[in-house]
Amino acid sequence: ILKKGILFICLSFVTIHWTQAQANEQKIEQLLKKMTLEEKVGQMTQITLDVVGKGEDRFSSFEPLSLDKDSLKKALVDYHIGSVLNTANNRALTPEKWYSIISEIQHVATNDTRLKIPIIYGVDEIHGATYTVGATMFPQQIGQAASRNRDLVRKGAEITAYETRASSIPWNFSPVLDLGLDPRFSRMWESFGEDPYLGAQLGVEMINGYEGINNNIGDPKHVASSLKHFLGYHATVSGKDRTPSYISPEALREYHLPAFKAAVEAGAHTIMINSGIINGVPVHANYDLLTKLLKEELNFKGLIVTDWADIENLHRRDRIAPTDKEAIRLAINAGIDMSMVPYDYETFCDGLIELVKEGAVKMERIDDAVRRVLRVKFALNLFDRPTTHFKDYPDFGSKAFEKAAYDMASESITLLKNSNDILPLSKDKKVLVTGPNANSMRTLNGAWTYSWQGEKTPEYASEYNTILEAIQNEIGDGNVMYSPGVSYIMGGKYYEEKYDQMEATLKLAEEVDVVVLCLGENTYTEKPGDMNDLYMSAYQTELALALAKVGKPIILILNEGRPRVISRFELEMEAIVQTYLPGNFGGDALADILFGDVNPSGKLPYTYPRYPNATISYIHKPSEEQKKAEGVYNYEADYNPQFFFGHGLSYTDFEYSNFTLNKSTFRNGEVIEVSVEVKNKGKVAGKEVVHLFSSDLYASKITPDVKRLRRFEKISLAAGERKTVRFELTADDLKYFDATGKAVIEAGEFELIIGELTQTIELVD
Ligand code: BGC
Repeated sequence: ILKKGILFICLSFVTIHWTQAQANEQKIEQLLKKMTLEEKVGQMTQITLDVVGKGEDRFSSFEPLSLDKDSLKKALVDYHIGSVLNTANNRALTPEKWYSIISEIQHVATNDTRLKIPIIYGVDEIHGATYTVGATMFPQQIGQAASRNRDLVRKGAEITAYETRASSIPWNFSPVLDLGLDPRFSRMWESFGEDPYLGAQLGVEMINGYEGINNNIGDPKHVASSLKHFLGYHATVSGKDRTPSYISPEALREYHLPAFKAAVEAGAHTIMINSGIINGVPVHANYDLLTKLLKEELNFKGLIVTDWADIENLHRRDRIAPTDKEAIRLAINAGIDMSMVPYDYETFCDGLIELVKEGAVKMERIDDAVRRVLRVKFALNLFDRPTTHFKDYPDFGSKAFEKAAYDMASESITLLKNSNDILPLSKDKKVLVTGPNANSMRTLNGAWTYSWQGEKTPEYASEYNTILEAIQNEIGDGNVMYSPGVSYIMGGKYYEEKYDQMEATLKLAEEVDVVVLCLGENTYTEKPGDMNDLYMSAYQTELALALAKVGKPIILILNEGRPRVISRFELEMEAIVQTYLPGNFGGDALADILFGDVNPSGKLPYTYPRYPNATISYIHKPSEEQKKAEGVYNYEADYNPQFFFGHGLSYTDFEYSNFTLNKSTFRNGEVIEVSVEVKNKGKVAGKEVVHLFSSDLYASKITPDVKRLRRFEKISLAAGERKTVRFELTADDLKYFDATGKAVIEAGEFELIIGELTQTIELVD
């Protein structure tokens, strides 16, 4: 009876949702019939608040934010603009302030315009409601990937959606589903790392958290998500932001598409386009990718938005169009539904109207775009509820939310090295805390926090604990010394550093038992984060080497968006802990790990390179087997990273045994059941991530990858406890794409790998 009841409730829920979607489609058609061409084009346009908003917020010394009423009316009433993004002057606002701004804009949209269509407001709330003062800041995506904890990822997204709605914002430009393959790329940390399966799995969890069960974004606790940046954005040849990529049909299908495909199947409502150029063609002008692949093959019914000013970029930067008007024609005909920030929105709207009148853009294309915009607005229920109010969100910034962010930080932090089991430290140790990242809330959070480049974080996050403060709280001020040694230059570029009491720092090192050296990077994203040298900076390297000479054991804490090469001093470090960009509770979580209150369980979501010119992913060709042919290979130059993808130590030891398969051969369509036993052999409880990899021994059409992650599961084990972990695989999981991008399921042998254990299975015709 209970089972039937649950089934009935689920079916009713799905039916209500489906009927609602049908009703919305009717409303869209009715509205579309009433719209003039000008009104339709307005719905396809998104402006930034800077066009209509002036001033700053929060601190009395700043001018309070106000909207320029004439500019607002011109945009919304005369040009029928349908969407607004970002914050004025790129600064976080209180939720109350957000409400007052958005309700003022919605008031104009829903009262003063002919059709009273609400605007849709979008913001980058990428690791928490990052543009709202007082919101809960989680680790950035790269750290969330290290946690391998699906539930925490989903919960974090749910909380982010709630706090975003508490700020009256219904649309979030997140998650990033690009592959973090290139450690040089300035946005690697915005991704889930280098593995396509990991990215797809966690991307779907994040969408489920943002959009809710059945993508019910009409529920005011959820927001529309935006998958970005479709697709291959991180795969540039130069490693620099918004520069060309060359992606073969095989690589596109095998690596770059799976996460987007899974997220579209999970019902995500919007998608943002890669600002770059693939195989010579800017993605914003690529009909094959936007219309044939995304809208037709993947059947994506949601809204495609450009990235920042990327239609005019087709003319001004990419030189594929000799005029702005031609750029508009190319992008809209390729399949773009909404233009994010045409700097001059009049040119965009007037140009598109002319193109339709001239027959260069068909009315069906415009209607398709407007339907997609309206579909998201109806799904969000903006017509009945154009704003949401802070007072209806009593849990905003609650202790329970903070606990979720802390849990995510503590499960993401990754212990990379622990010589002589120096960690955990006992609490009576005298410690020197040093390095440019030791006392900085800014570097714990990374960019897109309270402002684009993260430079405003110190003003907003002062009540949270830096690494230094957290260590002081953990063991008392008396045992903690602090001296930076090296500092980032305030207001400088992210890579600008200076010596800061270097001599004094080295002297203090002599007086303590252990040095906690906090190195990494200052905050950056996009173009300002482009780099030319992956080695850890010269200043920080010098600090590490000078401290090593003092002779005290050094615990290296990494707080960085991308793996900076540390091989010049790695051997001198007794222990190494990667924190990534762990958010406002990263300092507390780290201190708990250093002093043994928490057992670390994060696993690297990328390959940590040993040299700047050796940055290949764990997924690579050809087979590792070839290395065994002695003398043929230069071992150093091949895949010989500092730390492997999936690496991460614990304070306990896990033993894997009884790796079994239910069969030794299988056919397409059959399920392979895989199981393995894991035992916690140590004296403390711990969490372990079981990774199942596969290796296709021979493939007839392409050289197969060395190995690929197929499944993972995070488990908790008390001291001495054993658990059996089970996975299921089918032939579809083991397929590959040939050089033309066609899926191939091919008979032959596969190796399945868990830890050090392997099993062979054969797919038969
Ligand atoms: C970034 C996007 C972001 C957009 C809106 C762009 O510059 O590439 O990731 O969503 O700005 O802020």
